[in-house]
Amino acid sequence: MQLLDIHTHKAATNLEVVSIQSFSLTAPLPVISAHQPISVGLHPWYATLQNLEEQLAVLTQIAQRPQVKMIGECGLDRLKGEPLANQLVILEKQLALAEKLNKPLILHCVRCFDELMAIKKRLNVQVPMVIHGFNKNAELGQQLLDKGFWLSFGAAILKPAASASQLLSVTDRFFLETDEGGADIATLYEAASNLKKSSLDELKALIFANWKKIGLI
Ligand SMILES: [Zn+2]
Repeated sequence: MQLLDIHTHKAATNLEVVSIQSFSLTAPLPVISAHQPISVGLHPWYATLQNLEEQLAVLTQIAQRPQVKMIGECGLDRLKGEPLANQLVILEKQLALAEKLNKPLILHCVRCFDELMAIKKRLNVQVPMVIHGFNKNAELGQQLLDKGFWLSFGAAILKPAASASQLLSVTDRFFLETDEGGADIATLYEAASNLKKSSLDELKALIFANWKKIGLI
């Protein structure tokens, strides 16, 4: 069974790994193989209200390709990008697109979890919402899980004391990701199986089942 990397910015090089490479359409999409699974969205660091209409038109078109498995990363960031009010408008458009295309979302969220929970509720978003790179406290993580979000963990789980590690050991609703790099996905699988006290095969089966649950496989 292959290793599954739900969010990376790097091109796939290993046939043992299925990865979803993420592109922000705030820049032109490079040439990529039609077989490479990708996600496309407007990243909150780079998206602007001023360019929204134009970029959303491109996103809407590209997002329909079968190789686009998820919409994003999109989301909210209190520390970077446009004022939050603008980010909310930009996010709402992408949530609506994901709903229309019935594709799950990969979300970036920095210090805006209340806003994210509120917008999910207000718009009654039905497609799966995966928060990537989660490493906040376990209580917040549990709250997000209770509200139907999914979490994706990255290199933070290499530290057993990290919040992500604590949360991973008590939930099965998660994915693994390499994001910008640092650790490879095989290392993350190994760390996760140690934290869960499960075999590598059991962990592979669990993450495969989660990919299936949100319609990625
Ligand atoms: Zn990322």
